[in-house]
Amino acid sequence: ESLANQIAAGEVVQRPASVVKELLENSVDAGSANITLIVKDAGKTLIQVIDDGKGMSETDARMSFERHATSKITSTDDLFAIHTFGFRGEALASIAAVSQVEMKTRREDDEMGTLIEVEGGERKEQEPVSVPVGTSIAVKNLFFNIPARRKFLKSNPVEMKHIIDEFQRVALVNPEISMTLYQDDNEVYNLRAGKMAKRIISIFGRSHQEQLFPCQEDLEVMSVNGYIGKPESAKKTRGEQFFFVNGRFIKHSYLHHAVMTAYEGLLPDSTYPFYMLNIQVDPKDVDVNVHPTKTEVKFTDERTLYAIVSAAVKQALASYGV
Ligand code: ADP
Ligand code: MG
Repeated sequence: ESLANQIAAGEVVQRPASVVKELLENSVDAGSANITLIVKDAGKTLIQVIDDGKGMSETDARMSFERHATSKITSTDDLFAIHTFGFRGEALASIAAVSQVEMKTRREDDEMGTLIEVEGGERKEQEPVSVPVGTSIAVKNLFFNIPARRKFLKSNPVEMKHIIDEFQRVALVNPEISMTLYQDDNEVYNLRAGKMAKRIISIFGRSHQEQLFPCQEDLEVMSVNGYIGKPESAKKTRGEQFFFVNGRFIKHSYLHHAVMTAYEGLLPDSTYPFYMLNIQVDPKDVDVNVHPTKTEVKFTDERTLYAIVSAAVKQALASYGV
């Protein structure tokens, strides 16, 4: 694999959690009802995602490892209105450039599926296999061919924390998908499909049950919906504040401020309320390609969005008598 490809890969794949994020998002995009994530050694030896989504044809499976191979842009218009996030068609190629990948995939209408093995960007193996409908991608020995990068990885607890963050984000905003996480053969999460409130509770614990208010604002050009925490349940530590745009997690300090403004005067000193808000906007009003890790986005009209988010949260608090 060329150095240039390895450098490009480094943009997308920073650590095991980056692989987890890309694989999980692909499984969501594939329309899966069930997704299983298996990690060993905090993702350093194995990250495997198994889904029951639409799967790939033999050609698509082979193509999926080519840089800029994406099935998600079918016209140039799509380039300006990307419904699914990401550097189009970079993820699998980048992951395969710096690991040993085994993909098994089958579409419903195909009798046989396809097995492909790629190592350091080179195809080692391809053959028909008998597999269930959907896709399984196993990513082994991340950065095996870049010792400096491998050495640079943090301790297992730190890398695992990043993986769990990615898993939780995808799980939170996709409550209709059953999601399971195994860490070194132990089941860490087994989240059944259901409503969003139930998903929040099963991820963050029972104590949230009595502590959530629904928050919803439907406007013609956009909508905001999710849950916010009662002020008295706010915590001194951060980490339970989530924004999603069109179903993808983002960080946005300006919008965070919009939420905090709505809580003004209601929170115990230096505490942060829980919130999980999914903003639906026309994809052309958001530029997702600001940063390679794609958690930062720019909106065309940030001030209006600020006002809408703040008003939605205020209204949710008010309607529950807070
Ligand atoms: P992108 O998601 O930006 O299109 P990726 O490199 O992540 O690029 O994936 C390349 C292509 O491989 C996708 O466009 C999709 O067609 C296919 N693909 C990847 N993962 C899956 C999956 N789990 N199920 C079905 N197709 C997949
Ligand atoms: Mg992708």
